Amino acid sequence: VDPSPAGVCIFCRIVQGEIPSAKVYEDALTIAFMDLGQVNPGHVLVATKRHAANIFEITDEESAAVMQTARKVALAAKIAFEPAGLTLLQANGVEGGQTVAHFHLHVVPRHADDGVSF
Ligand code: 5GP
Ligand code: ZN
Repeated sequence: VDPSPAGVCIFCRIVQGEIPSAKVYEDALTIAFMDLGQVNPGHVLVATKRHAANIFEITDEESAAVMQTARKVALAAKIAFEPAGLTLLQANGVEGGQTVAHFHLHVVPRHADDGVSF
């Protein structure tokens, strides 16, 4: 079941270039772009290119690819933002804190007393 096909799902529309995003990286399976919300400077989302709602719908290959991309983003953020720490967050389901039903992982540079709640 694909509840949010291309044209409806906002991240599918970003993948397809139908709505603008500040893209920082892409490869065959993944895309990384700046989060519109920027809880801290350098807050990036890594998403699968294929629509998958959550962790239960991605393949092992996509799972590995997302983490590899997240690590590239983390290494770049380490240089660009000189964070004291870095948080990866991935939410599934409304109760899990997910607001966009297309699999994605947050990469958030962190600083002492930055007030970020996750
Ligand atoms: P979630 O709560 O599902 O883990 O995260 C969804 C994230 O997507 C939020 O941090 C929100 O700021 C971000 N977001 C929602 N709509 C857009 C959009 O149109 N463009 C971008 N770049 N980020 C978005
Ligand atoms: Zn989608």
